[in-house]
Amino acid sequence: MTSGGGIQIPSRLPLLLTHEGVLLPGSTVRFSVDSARNMHLVSQRLLKGTSLKSTIIGVIPNTRDPEHDTDDLPTLHNIGTAGIAVQVVGSNWPKPHYTLLITGLCRFRVSSLLKERPFVLAEVEQLDKLEQYTTSATEGVTADDGELGELSQKFYQAAVQLLGMLDMSVPVVAKFRRLLDSLPRETLPDVVASMIRTSNKEKLQVLDALSLEERFKKALPMLTRQIEGLKLLQKTRKTSPDNEKRVLSVRKGGVFPGRQFNLDEEDEDDDGDDTAVLERKVHGANMPEAALRVCLKELKRLKKMPQSMPEYALTRNYLDLMVELPWSKNTKDCLDIQAARTLLDNDHYAMDKLKRRVLEYLAVRQLKTSLKGPILCFVGPPGVGKTSVGRSIARTLGREFHRIALGGVCDQSDIRGHRRTYVGSMPGRIINGLKTVGVNNPVFLLDEVDKLGKSLQGDPAAALLEVLDPEQNHSFTDHYLNVAFDLSQVLFIATANTTTTIPPALLDRMEVLQVPGYTQEEKVEIAHRHLIPNQLEQHGLTPQQLHIPQDTTQDIISRYTREAGVRSLERKIGAICRAVAVKVAEGHRVIKTETLILEGPAEQEDKAAPPEMPIVIDHIALKDILGPPLFEMEVSERFTLPGVALGLAWTPLGGEIMFVEASRMEGEGQLTLTGQLGDVMKESAHLAISWLRANAKTYQLTNMVGAPDPLEGTDIHLHFPAGAVTKDGPSAGVTIVTCLASLFSGRLVRSDVAMTGEITLRGLVLPVGGIKDKVLAAYRAGVKCVILPKRNEKDLEELPANIRADLDFVTARNLDEVLNAAFDGGFQGTASTHAPPQLTSKL
Ligand code: ADP
Repeated sequence: MTSGGGIQIPSRLPLLLTHEGVLLPGSTVRFSVDSARNMHLVSQRLLKGTSLKSTIIGVIPNTRDPEHDTDDLPTLHNIGTAGIAVQVVGSNWPKPHYTLLITGLCRFRVSSLLKERPFVLAEVEQLDKLEQYTTSATEGVTADDGELGELSQKFYQAAVQLLGMLDMSVPVVAKFRRLLDSLPRETLPDVVASMIRTSNKEKLQVLDALSLEERFKKALPMLTRQIEGLKLLQKTRKTSPDNEKRVLSVRKGGVFPGRQFNLDEEDEDDDGDDTAVLERKVHGANMPEAALRVCLKELKRLKKMPQSMPEYALTRNYLDLMVELPWSKNTKDCLDIQAARTLLDNDHYAMDKLKRRVLEYLAVRQLKTSLKGPILCFVGPPGVGKTSVGRSIARTLGREFHRIALGGVCDQSDIRGHRRTYVGSMPGRIINGLKTVGVNNPVFLLDEVDKLGKSLQGDPAAALLEVLDPEQNHSFTDHYLNVAFDLSQVLFIATANTTTTIPPALLDRMEVLQVPGYTQEEKVEIAHRHLIPNQLEQHGLTPQQLHIPQDTTQDIISRYTREAGVRSLERKIGAICRAVAVKVAEGHRVIKTETLILEGPAEQEDKAAPPEMPIVIDHIALKDILGPPLFEMEVSERFTLPGVALGLAWTPLGGEIMFVEASRMEGEGQLTLTGQLGDVMKESAHLAISWLRANAKTYQLTNMVGAPDPLEGTDIHLHFPAGAVTKDGPSAGVTIVTCLASLFSGRLVRSDVAMTGEITLRGLVLPVGGIKDKVLAAYRAGVKCVILPKRNEKDLEELPANIRADLDFVTARNLDEVLNAAFDGGFQGTASTHAPPQLTSKL
């Protein structure tokens, strides 16, 4: 066929040289453009042109446009498809490229090349007719046309058969159906070949088939193969890989006579006898008596309702949910403590105490085979593996896992559902979760129970209590369902960052397991045992392609993250993987090109990774990828003036170091406090000042005019910099005293010391909480010595041995001991021999 009447494409076409896809007339394909010639074509022709004609370009498949402009033009395939560029999208990342959306119009042959640079321009000969089609598939080529007619008839029927097997709700299938009925038959081979699963090589065969007859002959086997494949799939009823499933998903009772493909029960509802099917399902759902009664009643109402009534949809949705709920579907527990131990150990490094307790819990459950008992609640900073342990518990039990995020939930209908009185009503999260997992004995992880809110819409904590209470939860009533559902087989686990904001009634039901933050060494181990392998896998990389040495991991931990858990560490490793993935992909491209030169265009396989593998991430590469370090060791730099001390604070996010700064100026004995302080903190500050005034003589502290009362003629300003979080709690007492002692004495506090402890007016040091997290924070910040209350000595046992060995600990009974440890060479005074201080506070 040569160009006859109809629309003519320009006789000179700029050519887009592609190697990724084959454009056939009538289909639309996305091309990624990044080689020099193609980039020029886009920027100088497509983006500059103003006429419709300038958007028509020729697409030549199966060419490798050399990366470098200097190279000669490779031999070009001489048949191509003229197409209209319907969309051009430019991007600069990861490197400059365009994405073109091109709709194919007709075949052409390259007669001669007119120029090769900046892009290829060719004289072309149009091969297909291009006209405004008026005939449809049922006409055009007819059976009278001999062999061709027969072929086209066969082809049409096969296409119709395929269509009957596909799910019409998938957009591409719907489009296929529309096209099939409206297009002339001679266009079908091109259109169908581009829509069904074919390789580029096969598409190329269709493109090269210039006579219509040959084109039908080439495309028909592809179509038949697709149909056979689909039949097989339906027979085995196996789930195919996702993308295949999408296009091929089998529809039950489709438009086609092919009733034998009627496999998927759920789609049956668009057959006429809708309610009969539903009724069967209601009886088949194995629900308790009461629920069944409600369903049958609703069903009866449904049958009387016209479908157009809004209430119809409402009732219908309700019934659909009722039949879907796992009233009596469950998984069988397979608990083997030995296996559970191995699994927990394999999935999680460190956290021994937690793992031990979890195993005990599981063992008791196995012996008692009942779930009554406390609900485990993992409490700790973000990213320490709380969710992940929950997931492992589900796996060891062989149960389904579902996470219910409670953060910010402040309406009890979130838990318990909305009454079915208005159109938008929905079941609550518990029932929804059950529907999602499809069994009635999953592990539900109630995430962030400490972040439950309260509002006018009722207290979600109260609803949650009902869910968790073994005395009540066998008949949990969701407002939407309005019949009881038995939750007693569900295993609930909760997580929280802190226990202080968990409603007390809820806390009472739970057994709290603290999950503290990790040390640097633990993080390195976790990274190398778990995070790096996981991230490699997620990014499709192998250890042969990317290597992160331990030094680098340490660098990431100390200079790019400051956290108790490992979540940002995981994210940073992910960022490295992405950066390397780009490199690896580029490497593959080079190899691919080389292979093609050697073996000709037929094979398009990636043969091997580029030679410079593995890519090792050293400090320089790290800086390239993650940018300049986010955190520098700043501790020692700040101790350049008297009046600075380093405290340790505990927050729900883990331990933190906290600087306390003080300055003084002439005034009338005013104390100013800044830095978002809570009341307890303010009291600590007053206590500290009172104690110092009382002991000013002992320590030879003087005020600005040389008199012994530090406040006389002097104003003091105390500031707690860094962070917009409210700081509260009594544990900063010793730090404030030390800071003020430094200010009044004009001496510098040791820059490698951090401290924590509550004080009394008489100078005793009282124990505080969160010692492990605080010490870890001090260690992260490079501190050498930690001062803590004597009575916290026992908490040191929880620390890993290497940290105990690396840090000096001073356990202090009173402030005198604190000051002696905080200053080089001790703090002058009569040490512990002095008399109890006189109480002379004016504050
Ligand atoms: P949380 O629920 O405490 O906020 P996650 O369970 O989401 O934390 O953990 C964040 C990531 O860190 C997960 O990928 C988890 O697998 C990993 N992780 C945390 N702790 C450990 C550990 N001890 N061993 C292995 N991986 C861990």
